[in-house]
Amino acid sequence: MKKLIYLMVVIAILGLIVSGCIPVVPPAEQDESGTLPNEARVQPTTARVKLKSHIFIDCFQVSGDRGPAFSDDFSVYKLFRGGVKWSETPVSYYVDLTDAPNDALGAITKSTDEWDSYTSAVLFEYIDNTSITFDEPGDLEKPYKENTVSWASFDALGLPEDAVAVNVVWFWVMVSPGGVTGRVLNLAEFHIINNSDLPWAVNALGVKGNQFDVQNVNTHEFGHSLFLGDLYMPPASELTMLGYTVIEETKKQDLGLGDILGLQALYGE
Ligand SMILES: [Zn+2]
Repeated sequence: MKKLIYLMVVIAILGLIVSGCIPVVPPAEQDESGTLPNEARVQPTTARVKLKSHIFIDCFQVSGDRGPAFSDDFSVYKLFRGGVKWSETPVSYYVDLTDAPNDALGAITKSTDEWDSYTSAVLFEYIDNTSITFDEPGDLEKPYKENTVSWASFDALGLPEDAVAVNVVWFWVMVSPGGVTGRVLNLAEFHIINNSDLPWAVNALGVKGNQFDVQNVNTHEFGHSLFLGDLYMPPASELTMLGYTVIEETKKQDLGLGDILGLQALYGE
């Protein structure tokens, strides 16, 4: 019998697991064959693995009474799947500036710099490649083999109109012979999409009014790219990983204690 050598089997797919606002992205399934990236090679090459995704959906709230004031020294953070993370850093990413406000790239790199400044690990690396796009409805439901930041119409994508940004994070999981999903291995890729149907600005606070701040929102989204989860309890109101934002908000630009502790739990001090 002819000997077959399986370089690898990748089964992509998966129902998207939705958190945040209203779950509107339907489950999708597809298979994909290709080369298993190095970061997934922590198991023998004969092991079956598949890609699974989690979509973080971040909505805005109308400004108003925020309730009692809290400080940013609240020490809570949320990890996913027992602390799944990138097996190798830095994680390179591309930015598609189509429909982005002026100077958005500088604000985005400041967002990653903030996370990088609280760990000795080098987390993110911007790659200049203007040909990268990630804005078709189907893009939400398939791995893309690159990490991206972009702006796109949430109306066109079928995402909630009160969502400011989403982050689709893909990760490798083991699959049993019976097809049962097992242990999560590590992160595979992420796609931050900012809602171009909403008004955006760099340094939005008090400049033009009624705009969402690029650096504020994307610092939060890059927290999801590290696989930190949203926090919704009132004492987390001053943390970057609070799951809601408001127009002109900038406090998420600077990490709070819980954000830093979550980062360091995954990637060290
Ligand atoms: Zn979030």
